[in-house]
Amino acid sequence: MYYLLGVVVILVLIALSCRWNWWRKSEQGIAILMYHKIGFAPRGVSLKKLWVEPKKFDKQMAYLTQHKYNVITLKELFDNLLDKKRLPSKTVVITFDDGYKNNYTEALPIFKKYNLKATIFLNVAYIGGKSEWEDSSVESSQPMLNWNEILEMLEYGIDFGSHTLTHANLEYCKDQPKRLNHEINQSKKILEDKLHWPVVSFAYPYGAGTNDKKIKGVLKEAGYRIACGIKQGKVSIPVKDMFNLNRLLIRGDENIVDFAFNIKKGRTRL
Ligand SMILES: [Zn+2]
Repeated sequence: MYYLLGVVVILVLIALSCRWNWWRKSEQGIAILMYHKIGFAPRGVSLKKLWVEPKKFDKQMAYLTQHKYNVITLKELFDNLLDKKRLPSKTVVITFDDGYKNNYTEALPIFKKYNLKATIFLNVAYIGGKSEWEDSSVESSQPMLNWNEILEMLEYGIDFGSHTLTHANLEYCKDQPKRLNHEINQSKKILEDKLHWPVVSFAYPYGAGTNDKKIKGVLKEAGYRIACGIKQGKVSIPVKDMFNLNRLLIRGDENIVDFAFNIKKGRTRL
């Protein structure tokens, strides 16, 4: 009987170890969280993990506040690094890719509730439209932020970066210099003209191009100063590559324990 109980306890412990790496040392560095959509995933969506329910998001923001995390925007991170300011060890940057309307309708009220800020990477050609770059067999196209919403968010303190014009896979346009330049330069120019705000940050659609010297060269030439990839992990200080910052994907199917482990350890599971 006791033997059986012992086996069950060991099995449970193994299962918990696999789910949460509680035994793993905390990873030092800045945690840049990566979100996409706040809301309820439509039925039949295959990339459901990119939808975080509003209640869950609220809980995550409450966690950051209660545990006294220093939440800054990517621009503030860049400014701090430039001034060689020592950042508190519990520094977090919240980022959103693509610029969905639900960032305004669902996330902004929660940011206001906890007095938090974030950085949103916009697909500039789709502002005020729908996410037409998305494969319709994966998900029906979603409404995107419009300029009025973006300006209101900017006024509140949300920072904006570029995610190209058309959510382009930069690896595919690397041999088309005109297109590459257009996606990178034009998106920055349109944003700066409309927002009167310096756009220093960039996020690579699909994480494509993060290791490509040519693509990074075009980004630097265009005046970007900091860029995010999609590799899972925290950003160690001093930063090795300002144009390929790791991020932590916050999945919709994870709970608050996952969230806490993710921020502390740079991962939630094996
Ligand atoms: Zn994207």
